[in-house]
Amino acid sequence: MRAIQLTAPGTLELVEVPTPTPGPGEVLLATAAVGACHSDLHILDAPAGSFPTPMTLGHEIAGRVAEVGSGVTGWSQGDAVAVYGIIGCGRCRACLRGLENQCRTVPVGGIGLSRDGGLADHVVVPADRLLPLGELDPVQGAPLTDAGLTPYHAIALSRDALRPGTSAVVIGVGGLGHMAVQILSVTTAATIIAVDTSEAALRLAKRMGAHHTVQAGPGAAEQIRQLTGPAPDGAEVVLDFVCVDASLDTARQVVSTGGQLTLVGLGGGTLPMTPTAGPPPVPLETSAVIPFWGTRAELAEVIALGKQGLLRAEVQTFPLTEAVQAYQALRDGEIHGRAVIVP
Ligand code: NAD
Ligand code: ZN
Ligand code: ZN
Repeated sequence: MRAIQLTAPGTLELVEVPTPTPGPGEVLLATAAVGACHSDLHILDAPAGSFPTPMTLGHEIAGRVAEVGSGVTGWSQGDAVAVYGIIGCGRCRACLRGLENQCRTVPVGGIGLSRDGGLADHVVVPADRLLPLGELDPVQGAPLTDAGLTPYHAIALSRDALRPGTSAVVIGVGGLGHMAVQILSVTTAATIIAVDTSEAALRLAKRMGAHHTVQAGPGAAEQIRQLTGPAPDGAEVVLDFVCVDASLDTARQVVSTGGQLTLVGLGGGTLPMTPTAGPPPVPLETSAVIPFWGTRAELAEVIALGKQGLLRAEVQTFPLTEAVQAYQALRDGEIHGRAVIVP
């Protein structure tokens, strides 16, 4: 079968590999759609030894059951499914509470991160990672599993703070951010302020339900403050889907006293938080959280939103033969919403 593999650090290639066979408790999926996440670019750029090679990328997967391994019940050939990508140990304190995204035993990993992912004609996954998609188009189902789930989880962490009359700022309206705008819109009554460097992304944000859009840059914090009011007022929640120095600087300047900074992007910027004798770098009582992906229960809720038509990814589709070009387009800022590879 064909697969898009990380063959060496920085090298992504279309290669021919044997079709895998499902072991006990596993299923073989015929992949139907796989989202191209910006994290895959971070994986590509990571130093040698950070990720296994060769490894098939793709951690946002929808497909159909092609074959079930021994001991698997409840799934039959042809079932349309979405894949929950995290594989926790299932036994630690966090996993027992359903927080496999905080597993205490298995380091950050999963399908397409620490073992072969979905950017191939077929992928083997543990059967308990599957959720039914039913009639939902797999091209829509795939982005729900990360571009939908990660912001859904991040927003859930701040659910109590997002009361009517509050403001939420979304920085970076790409694959995750455009889903975040919709999730805020359908699950909260907060005023949504979207920020991006790209005008096309800001237009997308408006269509997804943002009340205001602000061009990222040196004047962004002041423009947001005109909408939220001056300190100590501000945005109760700032979701940063970029997390480079510039976006973190905006986030810190617009968050309210007692507000929450939700740092999702893997941009690697620095955010000073410790109090000083002078003006503090962030308002008093500010908290910051670094969310990771989400839980299986949350993915079921995200899929429910998708089935209700309340959460819909803006997608650009590519055949598997053009996956490498799709990632280049993502790097060049040419993707609006999510690139989805359709093997
Ligand atoms: P994307 O490339 O689709 O979107 C990024 C968006 O940010 C684009 O619209 C871009 O124009 C915008 N942007 C870039 N620089 C900006 C700046 N300085 N200010 C404002 N906007 C800016 O990426 P994505 O797939 O949505 O992923 C977003 C980030 O989240 C990546 O770093 C990714 O690795 C990370 N991520 C984290 C998790 C997690 O669990 N924490 C999960 C998935 C992805
Ligand atoms: Zn991802
Ligand atoms: Zn665990």
